[in-house]
Amino acid sequence: MTTTTTTLRSTSRLLAVADNGGGPDLDTHVQVHGDPPRLTGAAARDGVLGALSRSGVTGRGGAGFPTTRKVDLLARQRRRPVLLVNAMEGEPASAKDRVLLERAPHLVLDGAQVTGALIRADHIVLCIPAEHGGAAHAVQVALAERARRRIDALHVELAAPPARYAAGEESALADWAAGGSGLPMFRPDKGVPMAVRRSPVLVQNAETLAHVALVARHGDAWYRSVGAPDAPGTTLVTVTGAVQRPGVMEVELGTPVGHILAWAEVRRQPGGVLLGGYGGAWIEGSDLDVPFSPAALRERGAAVGAGVIGVLPAGACGLAETARLVAYLADESAGQCGPCTFGLPAVAEDLDRLAMGAADPALLERLRRRLEVIPGRGACGLPDGAVRLAHSALRVFAFDVANHARRRPCPGWAHRPTFPTPGVRRMSLWTTGTRR
Ligand code: SF4
Repeated sequence: MTTTTTTLRSTSRLLAVADNGGGPDLDTHVQVHGDPPRLTGAAARDGVLGALSRSGVTGRGGAGFPTTRKVDLLARQRRRPVLLVNAMEGEPASAKDRVLLERAPHLVLDGAQVTGALIRADHIVLCIPAEHGGAAHAVQVALAERARRRIDALHVELAAPPARYAAGEESALADWAAGGSGLPMFRPDKGVPMAVRRSPVLVQNAETLAHVALVARHGDAWYRSVGAPDAPGTTLVTVTGAVQRPGVMEVELGTPVGHILAWAEVRRQPGGVLLGGYGGAWIEGSDLDVPFSPAALRERGAAVGAGVIGVLPAGACGLAETARLVAYLADESAGQCGPCTFGLPAVAEDLDRLAMGAADPALLERLRRRLEVIPGRGACGLPDGAVRLAHSALRVFAFDVANHARRRPCPGWAHRPTFPTPGVRRMSLWTTGTRR
């Protein structure tokens, strides 16, 4: 990936230790954040659950659901659940969970213990792909420190599921933990918890758990004291692409995108900004006053998603970039649902033909038809995300679309790719089966 793991200073909560030059060790963690919360007894559990509910903490893995919704559901199960900590971070442009685990592993582990206590978990499994060795090492060291001081009530197992884009999708992770191949499962009723060997499973993102750890210590009023009224707290973002200082930073929700880009030293107006991740959406490079919060981004057809803010350089072709991203998503699909297997390669090819000025007269209409029939038919959200991205490209780069449809390619078509698309060859009249 193109991002470094530089932590940039803004509002520091999760990254408070690292931003003050501290290491990831337990002593420094306790010095800055205080002792790990202990939830002994029903009153303590109810107190933390209430604070979490009032805080408005939402999942930071992409979907953005209220955290207590899933916790409540799992707390009511007869069998003791398994807590899967999701640090798979399959989004190639994202580095936030990795950085968090490298810099503040104890915060994630505290949050896992708190959540485990809330749902009366049997044990915890922390999932980090083998490729993220730095994060796994930091967690191993942290677990050894905690074991020496006997501070954890629940056993934590470290696991390394195979890395791919959809591996962190919660049903895929649960399937892998149950000994399956780790493919997303069709779940018609999301109100029924997933199970591993008949034990219910709660999947929570690593960053989400770090926020839980802080709410358990400081309460909901503290959590809500920063951020936007409808989106309180901070969030980690990965800023990547055409920026002077790519990396992970912690920002208050509601911070204008332009401020975040200024901290990352973006000096020229971008050609476009990719928000959320590869299943996210483009906004115009001039639209930088938009607050980085779910409601504000929703109005632009975008979302906070995995916290990615990708800067397309001026002069690059947003359509060619989108074609590569959709091709990557097509390659990353598990190939078990029609919309991914057949629909996404066709969308990527259409976008590529459009970008290089090789569109036939019916291409745009065909592409728009394809984008209508794909969503809502896959086992996971990957195809819907790809379609959202393609729709936003047609909207934000409408001027280029009109030109390209008249067979006028722009010089930006040949621009170096801005975002990593591992395994996808440089596109030019892209055809299906791009893996080398
Ligand atoms: S929608 Fe695509 S990525 Fe998701 S399970 Fe189906 S084939 Fe796999």
